[in-house]
Amino acid sequence: MTEIQENSWQATVLTLFPDMFPGPLGYSLAGKALNDGIWALETVDIRAFASDKHRSVDDTPAGGGPGMILRADVLGAAIDSVQHAARLSDPVDRPVIYLSPRGRPLRQQRVRELTAGPGAILICGRFEGVDQRILDVRNIEEVSLGDYILSGGEPAAIALLDAVVRLLPGVVGDPAVLSEESFEQGLLEYPHYTRPAEWEGHKIPQVLLSGNHAAIRQWRRQQAEKLTQQRRPDLWRRYEEMQRNAAAVPECDDEEIER
Ligand code: SAH
Repeated sequence: MTEIQENSWQATVLTLFPDMFPGPLGYSLAGKALNDGIWALETVDIRAFASDKHRSVDDTPAGGGPGMILRADVLGAAIDSVQHAARLSDPVDRPVIYLSPRGRPLRQQRVRELTAGPGAILICGRFEGVDQRILDVRNIEEVSLGDYILSGGEPAAIALLDAVVRLLPGVVGDPAVLSEESFEQGLLEYPHYTRPAEWEGHKIPQVLLSGNHAAIRQWRRQQAEKLTQQRRPDLWRRYEEMQRNAAAVPECDDEEIER
C-alpha cells in the first residue's frame, strides 16, 4: 500500500485481491509516475470489513440461481470507511465507480474528466457481482470496459487507471503525442511507419518521406478518416455531425503549431 501524498491524483481500489496491485501499473509510464508521486494508489481489502467469524464477503443470490453475490453490508462498511478517511484529507469528493459490465462503456471523454478531477474510488466486483442495494443507496457510478465478461473488476480497474494516469501532466514526455491519438479528434489514429524504409519489399508511403508537412498532415487526416469510416461507423457518424456543427459556427483558429 502506497502512502497517499497531497496534490497527487489519488486512486483507492476496493478489492478482494489487493496483491493484484499495482501489477501492470507498476511498470513503464504509470510505474514511474507512481514512484514520482504524480499519482498515488491505495488498496483496500474488502475482506477486512467482513464481520462474521468466517470472514465471509459473499452469499447466495436471493431468489435462487447460480453463483455468489458480494454482500451489501460488507461492501458498505468498506466504502464508508474509505469515504470517511477521504473526507478528512481530500478537499473534494472523489467519484465512486463500480467496474461492471452493466455500466456506461468507458470512453476517452470520461477518462479525461477523471484525469481532471482529484482521483477516484474504484470497486472491483467478483463472483456474480454485488448486492444491488449498495449501488442504489451509495449512489455509485457503473463503468464498463466493454461488452464482455471478466472474472473480476481488477483488470478493468487497472485498465481505467492506466488510461487516466497517462493523461496526467508530466507522465507522457511529449504531450503532443496525446492530442494526435485515436479518439482525441473523434477519429481513429492514422497508420505509423518507421525505419527501415523498405521491409520485405514494402515501402513507407512516399509522402511521409517528402518533408512536406502540409501534405503529411493531409495524408494522415485522410487515412484517419478512411479507417474510422471503415471500422467504426458509430464514431464516423458522430465525427460527421461534429464537422457539420463546426461548419455552422464561425471557425475558430485551429492552426497547428509547426514543430
Ligand atoms: N454476473 C455479472 C458479471 C459478473 S463478473 C453480469 O452478468 O453482469 C464479476 C465482476 O467482474 C463484476 O462484478 C465486475 O466488477 C467485473 N467485470 C466483469 N466484466 C466487466 C466489464 N466488462 N467491465 C467492467 N467490469 C467487469
